Amino acid sequence: MTRVAIAIGSNLGDRDRAIAFATTQLSTLLDNLEVSRVVETWPLGEGTENQPLYLNAVAVGDTDLSPRELLDALMAIETEGGRERPYPNAPRTLDLDIILYGDDIVSEEGLEVPHPRFRDRFFVLGPLAEVAPDMVDPVTGLRVGELLRELLRDKTR
Ligand code: ADP
Ligand code: MG
Repeated sequence: MTRVAIAIGSNLGDRDRAIAFATTQLSTLLDNLEVSRVVETWPLGEGTENQPLYLNAVAVGDTDLSPRELLDALMAIETEGGRERPYPNAPRTLDLDIILYGDDIVSEEGLEVPHPRFRDRFFVLGPLAEVAPDMVDPVTGLRVGELLRELLRDKTR
């Protein structure tokens, strides 16, 4: 079994319902599931200036699925949650991203783990630090709690 971290996001339609749906689905997919609190955050990225706010959470759990099998399972849950992909950074009913897959580093067509931008994102590191502060980022060797402290360094002194 491998401990994995999944980021959950929604900024379209009934966001609370989408997060609840994702949590239910993930509880059947992963063992020993732990889900963070839900935070409301501003959308980031090109063209997102006038988009609605996100609800974000992070789930951690154990799986026997390979990284690719896990990605496929998450995309099936996104689709069932009404996800469409009209253009990059479009508002979405449900987004599920693999943040960490144990200590593995995966770099394949359509699959990058650890998620390449998670160290810069409070909406990931904040909730992740709540449920798994001691998970280690295999790229930097830093624990999640340390990554969060680095991200907030200039804002908290
Ligand atoms: P976003 O990057 O905004 O989350 P999408 O959810 O539409 O965009 O994902 C785009 C693609 O990102 C997916 O088709 C998937 O193949 C790829 N991808 C690469 N690495 C990951 C990862 N760690 N978790 C989820 N998707 C990933
Ligand atoms: Mg995604």
